[in-house]
Amino acid sequence: PQLVNQIAAGEVVERPASVAKELLENSLDAGAKRITIEVEQGGVKLLRVRDDGGGIPADDLSLAVSSHATSKLQDVADLERVVTLGFRGEALASIASVARLKLKSRASGEEQAWGLEGDGQGGWDGPQPVAHPAGTTVEVRDLFFNTPGRRKFLRTERTEFGHLETVVRRIGLSRDDVEIRLSHNGRPVFNLPAGQDQSVRERRVAALCGQAFMDEALHIEHSGAGLRLNGWVARPSFSRSQPDLQHFFVNGRMVRDRLVAHAIRQAYRDVLYGQRHPAYVLHLTLDPALVDVNAHPQKHEVRFREQRLVHDFLFRTLHEALAETRA
Ligand code: ADP
Ligand code: MG
Repeated sequence: PQLVNQIAAGEVVERPASVAKELLENSLDAGAKRITIEVEQGGVKLLRVRDDGGGIPADDLSLAVSSHATSKLQDVADLERVVTLGFRGEALASIASVARLKLKSRASGEEQAWGLEGDGQGGWDGPQPVAHPAGTTVEVRDLFFNTPGRRKFLRTERTEFGHLETVVRRIGLSRDDVEIRLSHNGRPVFNLPAGQDQSVRERRVAALCGQAFMDEALHIEHSGAGLRLNGWVARPSFSRSQPDLQHFFVNGRMVRDRLVAHAIRQAYRDVLYGQRHPAYVLHLTLDPALVDVNAHPQKHEVRFREQRLVHDFLFRTLHEALAETRA
């Protein structure tokens, strides 16, 4: 299984940011309300995610790090299926095959926490009793220490941390009900209290996208035809400091969609000729039956049932808001 896990890992564990994404999604799946992410050396030396979620019962600890799909990996078609579906029970096992992984958890309602330590070579120590509050900590050290071919593809500490920060930023923007802290080499990077009041949300967006963006942002809040759009778009006077300040969420899921991008670009172009790179953080909410968010999970594509309606709604809402800034 070590080799099979490494093959699976090669497909999905590309860099520290991909490890962070898997661990954070696990914490959110576990219902965490507070997540702390500690990173050293861009995440290559250390990536530690601690949450206050439901935890893992002692009996399930070994199962959590074993690869459920291993026995199904009998031919290339199966391998491809694992790759296209993403992990599906493979994340921790895959990560543990290319790094030293420690898992500590106390399940809700249990008195004792348990820990498990992998050596990155397929060997495991535990489960044994450890001290840990309710919730889970996953610690990943020395990513790719045993796969030098992979390690070679890692970029500088700064670049790797930048990718990781992007992952945390997206999750931070999509889940303002969860407190999130991120530190790098002992220095705090994000410290985001939870809360859905406007002032808390604004502070979070300012922390994640920069105060300059917030200072120049127009607040958008508009509903109609069963659709709701809310968030912020930058005024024309804003010049981006971050390369990727285009965040769009559909029912809480991050999306990169041509129809959405087109509608926003058109609205900008129509009102402010010359503005080529709109900056925004926008949440679209609609009846889940009217959108397929699983169209392309890896590419973050969605398929709207009523494309014209969504396009026009986005275009009109933004056009109106932007046009006012010109008046
Ligand atoms: P998947 O998330 O696809 O089930 P993973 O390998 O990411 O697969 O995780 C395996 C299992 O370990 C999860 O199904 C879950 O039961 C458990 N688990 C992992 N991380 C956490 C966490 N932070 N809190 C609670 N349970 C977790
Ligand atoms: Mg997972």
